[in-house]
Amino acid sequence: MTLSRIPLAGVIGAPVAHSRSPRLHGYWLGKYGLAGHYIPMEIAPDKLDAAMRLLPDLGFVGVNVTIPYKEKVMEIADLVSDRATLIGAANTIIFRNDGRIHADNTDGYGFIENLRQGAPGWDPKAGPAVVLGAGGAARAVIASLLEVGVPEIRLSNRTRLRAESLRDDFGNRIQVVEWVQAGNVLEDAALVVNSTSLGMVGKAELRVPLDGLRPGTVVTDLVYTPLQTRLLRVAAEQGCTCVDGLGMLIHQAVPGFERWFGQRPEVDDATRAAVLG
Ligand code: NAP
Repeated sequence: MTLSRIPLAGVIGAPVAHSRSPRLHGYWLGKYGLAGHYIPMEIAPDKLDAAMRLLPDLGFVGVNVTIPYKEKVMEIADLVSDRATLIGAANTIIFRNDGRIHADNTDGYGFIENLRQGAPGWDPKAGPAVVLGAGGAARAVIASLLEVGVPEIRLSNRTRLRAESLRDDFGNRIQVVEWVQAGNVLEDAALVVNSTSLGMVGKAELRVPLDGLRPGTVVTDLVYTPLQTRLLRVAAEQGCTCVDGLGMLIHQAVPGFERWFGQRPEVDDATRAAVLG
């Protein structure tokens, strides 16, 4: 029997109370007048597998995945996209009509779309990118920058070994730079990205010297609490084009929403305001 149900989607993780995704998807559902619901679901680690297999039977068409399950869901999925494999994590799950579970990663897509919207003049091929940080988010950033043709990525991380491991995975367009030297490689960068958690509310400040930043360089911070980090403030004072991290969060949600609810949502100021509440 085929059931005609209102589509359900949601976010799974532990915890999920902090997630802004329900607010974002709820806003889009309302804006476009779509039948559907988006639900935060905190799932215990030993129930993840069973929950993923049950959700389609309950009417779920897909879920977003947050910490700590972004890697684990790839083992449960029947199909994993190339970009999720490359990044080593999935954030978007599609429960297909044929019963198979498809895992994808849209973080890199969200990162690039945010840059395209916030810095329309940025040409990926214009020059080197400097990426600070080598955690999970940096993997998505690096994969997407290489895909759009950035010629060289200078990667600097407090723990050098993690940066070297990314270079081993992504190849010789990555140059590893000592953390204490990061400020010295900004001068001719076309793009500077903070993908560390430094500068976030409750964390230490990013203390990389920024006087090498030049007017025209595009500077973006993945941290979006606060929206204007010290990095973005100093960069703006030095004439850089600044793009905050909220747009990445919003843009990464676009492909999932479109797939689940059948409408490609627009990312505009009203969307930002809705997410910020
Ligand atoms: P992660 O895997 O835990 O990596 C954290 C990174 O920050 C590592 O490179 C770590 O360096 C560095 N770091 C932490 N404390 C440090 C310190 N005291 N000094 C120097 N480096 C330090 O986290 P993630 O998932 O990559 O996320 C990173 C940030 O991006 C978070 O703030 C997250 O909220 C944000 N993010 C935003 C979006 C968005 O949509 N805007 C998406 C994803 C992530 P070590 O390797 O040396 O520990």
